[in-house]
Amino acid sequence: MDRALVTGGAGFVGSHLCERLLEAGTEVVAADNFATAATVNVAHLLDRPGFRLLSRDVTGPMTAPGPFDVVFHLASAASPRDYLRLPLETLRAGSYGTERALDIAERDGARFVLASTSEVYGDPREHPQREEYWGHVNPIGPRSVYDEAKRYAEALTSAMRRERDVNTGIARIFNTYGPRMRPDDGRMIPTFIGQALAGAPLTVTGTGGQTRSLCYVDDTVRGLIALAASDVPGPVNLGNPHELTVLRIAEEILAVTGSASRIEYVDAAVDDPARRCPDISRARRELGWEPEIVLAEGLPRTVGA
Ligand code: NAD
Ligand code: UDP
Repeated sequence: MDRALVTGGAGFVGSHLCERLLEAGTEVVAADNFATAATVNVAHLLDRPGFRLLSRDVTGPMTAPGPFDVVFHLASAASPRDYLRLPLETLRAGSYGTERALDIAERDGARFVLASTSEVYGDPREHPQREEYWGHVNPIGPRSVYDEAKRYAEALTSAMRRERDVNTGIARIFNTYGPRMRPDDGRMIPTFIGQALAGAPLTVTGTGGQTRSLCYVDDTVRGLIALAASDVPGPVNLGNPHELTVLRIAEEILAVTGSASRIEYVDAAVDDPARRCPDISRARRELGWEPEIVLAEGLPRTVGA
């Protein structure tokens, strides 16, 4: 991989991905419209040789200097607060944005990696989620702007592979956490950490009995790079199979921060998935990948960042 395009490269996952690629000697062009992230995430990379940051909206005509060996398509709002605030933009990033990024991969004969999501499984009726599961998504609910955009992005990516021989790989990323999540992005981890450090109540939705499985960002990025370096079409689940209730995660954050904050139960989110845990057999088998960083290691790194 000599030259990579990373759409959404100034975002939380994208900035870590750019950093790892540069460390491996890959030249990186990051394209971002700063809809949900800021330049600060990649400020430390701006002077590095081999890194370029372009201000680009991937849903518009995308001029990106090439040729590239690999195109990572990450551009999309990702936190529920962001995509509920940017519903049409999120649908466009998944549809037009994915098409533009695929066009560049086709132009250059590059490997294409789609950052899809566990949200394609919706509120799953199968547990843990295997890639064979087709999902249980409300197509008209508020979350559908994200879930269905990613499902469409997967359909488009698959069609481009079949019809145009584009060398594509689909990653279904499960909840990822780590340094550089925006403190106000509304996701559980930055919200609970901010509340715990401020001594404010931790706002747990519903009963707190819903589950998530948290993967540290370095592990997720290593998985994305392994997928890029392979010919595996996927979809491949990338996530940590250690499943915890949201209440337990809140309690872990209280312990790590040494906070005396209390738990406050607030209204459940609409269409909130009740359980989420990846089956990662395929990633283990086809990519030789599995997560290495446990929560007890990843949470302090996130809090201390
Ligand atoms: P993020 O919001 O931090 O990053 C997304 C980036 O995309 C931002 O920098 C944003 O400005 C940019 N962007 C959005 N729309 C754009 C557009 N039209 N043109 C150019 N840039 C645009 O989110 P993240 O957590 O880093 O997520 C990155 C990708 O990974 C997303 O595609 C997301 O769906 C996927 N993903 C993330 C998680 C997770 O837990 N973080 C889980 C599953 C999937
Ligand atoms: N959540 C919560 N309090 C918050 C933010 C989120 O209890 O302040 C819950 C949310 O309802 C969901 C889980 O935490 O059940 C994970 O939410 P997040 O937004 O981090 O990611 P999601 O998995 O929903 O995309």
